[in-house]
Amino acid sequence: MNSSLSNAQEIDAADELAGFRDAFCIPTAANGEELRYLSGHSLGLMPKRARALVARELDRWETRGVDGHFDADGWFTYHERFAEPLAGLLGAEIEEVVVMNSLTTNLHLMLASFFRPDTEQNRILIEQQAFPSDRFAVQSQLAFHGLDPKTDLVELNPERPLADALDATLHSESGRVALVLLPGVQYLNGEAVDLAACTEAARRHGCRIGFDLAHAIGNVPIDLRTAEPDFAVWCSYKYLNGGPGAIGGCFVNRHWHRDRQLPRLAGWWGHVETDRFSPSSHFTPIPSAGGWQLSNPPILSMLPLEASLALFDEAGIARLRQKSVSLTGYLETLLVELCGDRLEPLTPSDPGARGAQLSLRLRRSGESVKTVVERVRDRGVIIDWREPDVLRLAPVPLYNSYVDVHAAVSALAAALAD
Ligand SMILES: *Cc1c(COP(=O)(O)O)cnc(C)c1O
Repeated sequence: MNSSLSNAQEIDAADELAGFRDAFCIPTAANGEELRYLSGHSLGLMPKRARALVARELDRWETRGVDGHFDADGWFTYHERFAEPLAGLLGAEIEEVVVMNSLTTNLHLMLASFFRPDTEQNRILIEQQAFPSDRFAVQSQLAFHGLDPKTDLVELNPERPLADALDATLHSESGRVALVLLPGVQYLNGEAVDLAACTEAARRHGCRIGFDLAHAIGNVPIDLRTAEPDFAVWCSYKYLNGGPGAIGGCFVNRHWHRDRQLPRLAGWWGHVETDRFSPSSHFTPIPSAGGWQLSNPPILSMLPLEASLALFDEAGIARLRQKSVSLTGYLETLLVELCGDRLEPLTPSDPGARGAQLSLRLRRSGESVKTVVERVRDRGVIIDWREPDVLRLAPVPLYNSYVDVHAAVSALAAALAD
């Protein structure tokens, strides 16, 4: 491959999605120069339009006060506009999707409904390298039901692919696992999990299954209609660019919407809109994923997400995926060429089994991953790391260019040579 900068510039010039970069604010260094940002898997960049949308709702509050709830496009139903674009990204039905709370809160709400242990089937299965928050959530749910996380939390070995490991582990558990929780894209190694195969394996063994799509949504195409899990949760501040602490979301399979046996934790926003304010009414859930809402949503922190989803809609996830595969492949090739055997790839080499993120382990023992990241940063590039020795780089097709990737790998090669 041609690893010259001019080659990267040529590919950028021919990239039909290149213009979307202008819709985002690119962070700058102290000297005012734009940084090369490859950390969109951690916190996506700010859509420029976010500020105007926040201002619009502040204006509404300023001039309308409580009446702002009942404007035609007002706050009473504001959250509903998010379901359609998100359902598009998830391959789900609109009524299966709701924005609410944050990821870990949603995970607890889903576990309250879907983890119903009995004396025989009372374990939860997660992967050994599960994100700490997901692990804490399931550990505390087990304890909440009087179970012991030491025995009742089953961990999947990080063999790949996860779907095969899942089937084998469920088989050896012989009917004791009640619920499976797996990622859509694994946060540490970047593996894109086969959701349909995992769901099929879970069903074969009589388990319920949910997915944490934190690193998958807005990154890889998702088809929940085909996979048919029971539930899924996500946050909106990674590839969805919803801003720090942005509102999260939840998918509840339509199969469950009208099931009155399924318990749930309730609040007034999940109650049918028509008599939400009635003091005498008894809880009647909205017959959709919206029936799991608790509270009226944080309007002011939803607006950057609205701006970002409009950009996803314009670009189209299929086109974004096409660029993503190419951009990540370009990153991979440059890394091999310029950093050689200093880095061990942890992410699958099959483009179908990964998203935008490549994870790399430092091969030289004793080298500090944080120091490497700081040296890269001194060269104007933002990447991130996980202790003890993993680097993570995510070229995001909405706003990253081939020149960004070129600059990132050049900076990394120089940092490793320091
Ligand atoms: C980012 C991330 C979270 C974050 O949880 P919050 O509740 O949004 O703070 C949880 N789980 C996974 C797998 C993540 O990647």
